[in-house]
Amino acid sequence: MFENLTQRMSRVVKTMRGQARLTESNTQDMLREVRLALLEADVALPVVRDFVARVKEKALGVEVADSLNPGQALVGVVHQELTNLMGADLGDNASELSLAAQPPAVILMAGLQGAGKTTTTGKLAKWLSEGGHIQHGRKTGKKKVLVVSADVYRPAAIEQLKTVAAQVGVEFLPSDPSQKPADIARHALDHAKRHHFDVLIVDTAGRLGIDEEMMREIRALYDLLNPIETLFVVDAMQGQDAVNVAKAFADALPLTGVVLTKLDGDARGGAALSVRHVTGKPLKFVGVSEKLDGLEPFHPERMAQRVLG
Ligand code: GDP
Repeated sequence: MFENLTQRMSRVVKTMRGQARLTESNTQDMLREVRLALLEADVALPVVRDFVARVKEKALGVEVADSLNPGQALVGVVHQELTNLMGADLGDNASELSLAAQPPAVILMAGLQGAGKTTTTGKLAKWLSEGGHIQHGRKTGKKKVLVVSADVYRPAAIEQLKTVAAQVGVEFLPSDPSQKPADIARHALDHAKRHHFDVLIVDTAGRLGIDEEMMREIRALYDLLNPIETLFVVDAMQGQDAVNVAKAFADALPLTGVVLTKLDGDARGGAALSVRHVTGKPLKFVGVSEKLDGLEPFHPERMAQRVLG
């Protein structure tokens, strides 16, 4: 993933490290290279502008403060700003799920059709049921997870979730296309309470585009379920489109975070770098494989490191 971006950025980093002095001209050259690398990676233009402006401002401070190794210090500035761009400014725990609700903690999954919602529901269920979840630096233990599909438009979607649930060994609550999504949700919540599930993950219908009816429906599910996490699942390979769709959802629904899927196929990386800035929501997980263990909690710092090569 991000091959080109990493290649270009590591070249800039190398050049910077080689500078004994930072001059107006070599700083400008470096900023131009960073700008081009980000644009080529399909990072949204306002994000690029903002980013370059912030690095530039801090670069001025570097010249004075760190005259011994200014190139190295400048690399540090780029690294820090990249980390912030991807959500570090939201605090250390922004990428963690908050499951500290009275059980069941409800997780509502939203997204367009094909984004990877059902797969991610399975991945998340696996991760939580195996005790992968970390909060405030500590594993929170294995969770008893129930999954249900409120996608009554595609019977195949319900079947798909059933298959995925069986693969990861979590309980699946059957639903039926003749039911109303709200009734499915109500029933699932009741079932989860009565059978003492820690977590209920509700997969929802995805449409081909954003439409009012879809928004109304998911909003109604949100009001009914009162989820502790509302995650928007989006396909990284859609680049800037992905970010725009995420923004439309963030404006319509109180999202708590974004899951970026198919990062393994995303050669550019623009969505991963823009989504936090454009939506104001933290990126919580990334999907890195079709397989059900292909989910990683998102760490801005590590991702910045990866980008810089
Ligand atoms: P939904 O319509 O949003 O529920 O999407 P699905 O969960 O059915 O996923 C659509 C396709 O994307 C399937 O073929 C998945 O295997 C694939 N997919 C989902 N997440 C990932 C990922 O992180 N990496 C890769 N390579 N494929 C993924």
